[in-house]
Amino acid sequence: MLPKFDVLQPQSLAEACALLKKHAPKGVAVLAGGTDLLVNLRLPVIPDNLPRSKNARPLPKAFDKPPAWLVALSRIPELHGITEVGDQIAIGAMTSLTDLAGSSLIRQKLAALAEAADNLGSPLVRNRGTLGGNICNARPAADTLVATVALSGRLELHSARGVRIVPAEEFATAPGKTVISPDEILARILYPISAGKAGSAFYKLANRKALEIAVVNVASALVLDEKGKIADARIAMGAVAPTPILAKQAAQSLIGLKPSAKLFKEAGKIAATECKPITDHRGSAGYRVEMVEVLVRRTLERSYEL
Ligand SMILES: Cc1cc2nc3c(=O)[nH]c(=O)nc-3n(C[C@H](O)[C@H](O)[C@H](O)COP(=O)(O)OP(=O)(O)OC[C@H]3O[C@@H](n4cnc5c(N)ncnc54)[C@H](O)[C@@H]3O)c2cc1C
Repeated sequence: MLPKFDVLQPQSLAEACALLKKHAPKGVAVLAGGTDLLVNLRLPVIPDNLPRSKNARPLPKAFDKPPAWLVALSRIPELHGITEVGDQIAIGAMTSLTDLAGSSLIRQKLAALAEAADNLGSPLVRNRGTLGGNICNARPAADTLVATVALSGRLELHSARGVRIVPAEEFATAPGKTVISPDEILARILYPISAGKAGSAFYKLANRKALEIAVVNVASALVLDEKGKIADARIAMGAVAPTPILAKQAAQSLIGLKPSAKLFKEAGKIAATECKPITDHRGSAGYRVEMVEVLVRRTLERSYEL
């Protein structure tokens, strides 16, 4: 059921970038954990030559032309691991979701990201799936992308042409579409960490407790000043727009004020006016709007507690 392709296993980031450039004319894709890519390569799951009923919807296709080459990133050491350097934490794109969820450093300093990784898929998917793969798949409900947007993550994109940094909130442009060029590799994700009191939290509402894409997911991050007032706030929402989005007005309403249950409730109400959900098989637009209000309040309360 899979189309034919060859797998290349570069040993360095520079070699991987060169391979992407070389094989671009015949079609090439980056392979991380493969939990999305290998599923997409099988689409459509019903072969074209089999008869279907007259009114059947067209089968989804991930690729117009399947890639002839896959560049596997698993053997590139610089793409693995979590490091704290100065006022930021750098995470290699090939770091598995299991390693992310289990890292005490991430739990302590980037709680929303650890919680997002912990709530993604199942143990099997988390063992194979990577942070970079979840971000690059750019689904509207991608759990770690929502957390990364709230945590002001910046994406380090490498190619044979050089390196560029993209803020996480500017990365996804439509469901499954990003600003990444076919010759670029997401190498690291950089998260600023605050010296003062800071906290973050992630909530995912889904129709099942595991192996389920979010109906709504929200991540919030707060930084307090020395007087205990909110100096910085970020609220990211998933599955309520074509890409994860920031609730900018809700976050702005918190700045300079003392945290309180009433303040967080009001912010939830404002965030509900900032989302643009659709109705689909997971939930109605109206339900999603109501849940944004609840989840924003709860993530803010937990960010403050942490
Ligand atoms: C059963 C199941 C359950 C799932 N549950 C969830 C869920 O609850 N929440 C959720 O958000 N997702 C879920 N997913 C989607 C998927 O598992 C995750 O998105 C996963 O993190 C993808 O990572 P990966 O390493 O397997 O990526 P891959 O499948 O290898 O790659 C995904 C895409 O990103 C590109 N890519 C990967 N890494 C890079 C890189 N470093 N640079 C450039 N491009 C890159 C690939 O070319 C491909 O287009 C689920 C999938 C399955 C099969």
